[in-house]
Amino acid sequence: MAWPRFNLPLPDREPRENPVCGLHRFSAAKPKRRALLSQLTFNSDPQNDPEFFAEGARVGVLTSQPLDRVLDYKAPAGGCFRGAFVEVPLGPRKVLGVVWGPGAGDFDLAKLRSVIRVLDVAPMRDEMRAFLAKAADYTLTPMSSMLRLATRAPGLSDPPSMRKVLRLGENTPDRMTDARERVLAVMEEFGGLSFTPKELSDMAGVTASVVKGLVKQGALIEVETPRDQPYPHLDPELPSKTLTEDQASAAAILEDAVKSGSYGTTLLKGVTGSGKTEVYLEAVAACLRAGRQALVLLPEIALTAEFLKRVEARFGATPAEWHSGATMTERRRVWRMVGQGAAQLVIGARSALFLPYRDLGLIIVDEEHDTSYKQEDGVLYNARDMAVLRAAMCSAQVVLASATPSLESWANAKAGKYRRLDLTSRFGASVLPEMRAVDMRNEELTSGTWISPTLKQAIQLRLERGEQSLLFLNRRGFAPVTICRACGAQVACDNCDARMVEHRFLKRLMCHQCGETKPVPTECPSCKVEGKMAPVGPGIERLGEEAAGLFPEARIAVLSSDLFGSARALKARIEEIAAGEADIVLGTQLVAKGHNFPLLTLVGVIDADLGLQGSDLRAGERTFQLMRQVAGRAGRAERPGEALMQSFQPEHPVIRAILSGDEEEFWRAEAEQRRIAGVPPYGRMAGIVLSGPDLAQVFDLGNHLARNNGALTQVGAQLFGPAPAPIARIRGRHRVRLLIKAEKGVALQDAIARWLRPVQLKGDLRLNVDIDPQNFF
Ligand code: ADP
Ligand code: ZN
Repeated sequence: MAWPRFNLPLPDREPRENPVCGLHRFSAAKPKRRALLSQLTFNSDPQNDPEFFAEGARVGVLTSQPLDRVLDYKAPAGGCFRGAFVEVPLGPRKVLGVVWGPGAGDFDLAKLRSVIRVLDVAPMRDEMRAFLAKAADYTLTPMSSMLRLATRAPGLSDPPSMRKVLRLGENTPDRMTDARERVLAVMEEFGGLSFTPKELSDMAGVTASVVKGLVKQGALIEVETPRDQPYPHLDPELPSKTLTEDQASAAAILEDAVKSGSYGTTLLKGVTGSGKTEVYLEAVAACLRAGRQALVLLPEIALTAEFLKRVEARFGATPAEWHSGATMTERRRVWRMVGQGAAQLVIGARSALFLPYRDLGLIIVDEEHDTSYKQEDGVLYNARDMAVLRAAMCSAQVVLASATPSLESWANAKAGKYRRLDLTSRFGASVLPEMRAVDMRNEELTSGTWISPTLKQAIQLRLERGEQSLLFLNRRGFAPVTICRACGAQVACDNCDARMVEHRFLKRLMCHQCGETKPVPTECPSCKVEGKMAPVGPGIERLGEEAAGLFPEARIAVLSSDLFGSARALKARIEEIAAGEADIVLGTQLVAKGHNFPLLTLVGVIDADLGLQGSDLRAGERTFQLMRQVAGRAGRAERPGEALMQSFQPEHPVIRAILSGDEEEFWRAEAEQRRIAGVPPYGRMAGIVLSGPDLAQVFDLGNHLARNNGALTQVGAQLFGPAPAPIARIRGRHRVRLLIKAEKGVALQDAIARWLRPVQLKGDLRLNVDIDPQNFF
C-alpha cells in the first residue's frame, strides 16, 4: 500500500474546542506549542505515561516501509513522545512512522535527519505497540507490515480536516423559485443542523447550481467544521429484551467477567437462534457502563445490515462500522475517533482488531469458527487468535460465539483455558429443523439436473403453504467445468493451474484463483472443433435455471457474492428476502451465516459431499459446521423447519454426526483423530509457500531449505517437501510448499526464524510463512 502524498506546508490554524471530549485538537499551531498541547490532549490519560524526548534527542522511529528495522532521527522542535505518530524523511520522500523509543544507533547525532512533524492523532499506546510486536513474532511478520495493518486509514498525516457546510444566512434571495424554496425549507426543518452542499441539494431534490445560487446571494453561508465527528452516544441503560433463564444466567456471568476488568475468554456456544447475540449485547452493555470500548467482529459484511439494526435498537444509536465496504472518509473517522475514545463500540471485520482503541474492554468474535477470520494474504493472521492475544494485553474479555465452535476453541474450553457457556434451546417456539439425508443413489435424476424428486416435493409443499425454501450449493457461477464433447479437453486458466468457471451472468469464463476472465469459446481451444463446448456440473446460477424450470410460478432469488455490485446491494437484497420477497432462495456460503429469514422452513443441501472431498485437515470439521449452520437457517420463527441433505454417502461419519445431532460426539471423535496424527490443536504446523515465475528456481530454493534444516531438527520439528502446492500455479507463478510439523510445546516461530534468516530471495522469488495454516492450497 502506498502512502498518500503529504500536503505541506500546512496552514496555521487556531486551536478548536472538540465539543464531545472537551479536548483541544490542533492541526498546525507553532511546533513547540503543539507538542506541549498534544501533551495536554492525549497524555492526561493516566494509563499511558510515555517517555518524552526533548528536541534534538535521538529517537527510534518505526516506519511502514519494508526495512524491518527502526530508524534513528532527531526529535523535532518541541520534542516528541514515545508512541507519537510522526512524519519523517526517508530518502527523497516523507513517510509515516511511530516513535518507538530512544534511538539505538551510533550514527553521528549531528548528521541525523530530524523528524518533520508530530501528527495530530492520538499517540500509539504502549499496549498497542506491545500487541503489534507480539503479533509480529507470532506470525513471523516484519514490524513494518504490522504498522501498515494498524494504520489502514487514509489521510492520517493530513491535519484533522475541515469541511465546508452551509448554514442559513441573513439575506433573502432576490427571486424565490420552487427549488430555492425547497432548499430553505430543508434548512428550516432541520433547524440547527448544517449540511454539505451535496447533502443539501440531495435532500431538497435540486441541482447543485440552485444551492450555489443561494450561497452567492447570502441566503446560505459557508462555514467550516471538523470533518471527523465523534460517534453518537450509546446508552446501555435502554431496556433490553427480557432474557430467558438460560440466557440471563449466561449474560450475568459475562457481565461479571467484564466488570472484573481483567482478561478472560469465554466460548459461548448455542444453536443458531438460541439468543447468543442477545446475551453478548448485555456483555457489551456492561462494558459501556464501565466506560470502556467494545468491539464486535463479524465474519461477513453482509451480516451487518440486520445486525446494526439490533444494536441500534438496544443502545439507541448506530455504532462505528469498520469493513472493506466503508468509504475512505468513514474509515478515517473510525480510526481517529476510536483513538480519542469518541467511538464506544465498533462493529467490524477482522482488521478492526488493529484499530488504536483508547481503552478496549471487550471483544466479541461472532461465528468464531468462520474461516474468513484467517487472513489469507499479506499478514497471515487468524483474527480469533489475535483477539485473544490483544485482550490478554489490555485486560479485556473475549467472547467467542458460535453454534459450531472450531475444534481449537472446543479443545481450549475442554482444557479449562476458556470458560464455556452453553445456550441449549432455541428462543421461543423455534426448534431445530428435522434433518434427513436424501440418498442420491436411490433418486432418479436426468443428466444435467441436481434437484432430486424428494427435494422437489418438499419445495412444492412450501410453495403451497406460502413458506420459503433455501437451496444451498457452495459453488459460484454457472458450471464449474467447460468441456469439449469432441476431445474431452477442459478450459483452464492461462495463468493458473485451475479450471475456468462459467459465469453466465457475466457471459464469460472466470478463474476463481486470479479473477482472469475470457469469453466462452465456441471452438475447442485444443482440437478446434466448433460448437462442442458444454458446461459440466452445477453452479449456483445453473441451479437457478433448474429451479425456474421446475417451479415457473415461484419467485426465485440467487444469492452469490459475485452477482451483486456492492455490499450494500447485497444487504438490501437479503432484507427484501427476509421480508418475504422470494419463494425459493439459492445461495452459496454467504447464506450459511446468521441471516434471519423468518418464513424459511426448508433447507436443501444440494451436495452435502462437496466439502468431504480433498485432503484438507479440517474438511470434516468445515463440512460439519457448514451443514449445521445451513440447517440452522430453517424454522427460526414459529414454523418448524426441515433440512434435506443430498448425499451419495449418507453413511459417512460426518454426515451421520450432522443428522444425529450429537455434536459432542463429533468433536470427541475428530479430536481423537487429530491427537493421534499430532496435528493442530494437538501439535503445531506451519506452511511455507515459495513462488516464482521459474519452476526450477523455486524448487532449488525449496531443496536448499530442506537440506539446511538444522534449526528445525534441533527442536524436533519435521519438515515435509518441497512439493508442488495443491494449486501449483497462480497468476503465472509456480508454487512449491514445505510443511512443518512439531510438538505442541515447541517454540516453532523461533526455530523458523533462525532457519530462514540466512535466506536471500533472489530476483522475483517470494517466500510466505503461514503459522497454523487453515487452507492447504
Ligand atoms: P443467535 O445469535 O444465537 O443466532 P439471536 O440472538 O440472533 O440468536 O436470537 C434469535 C432471534 O430470537 C432473534 O430475532 C432475537 O431477537 C430473538 N430472541 C432471542 N432471545 C430473545 C429474548 N429473550 N426475547 C426476545 N427475543 C429474543
Ligand atoms: Zn487464473
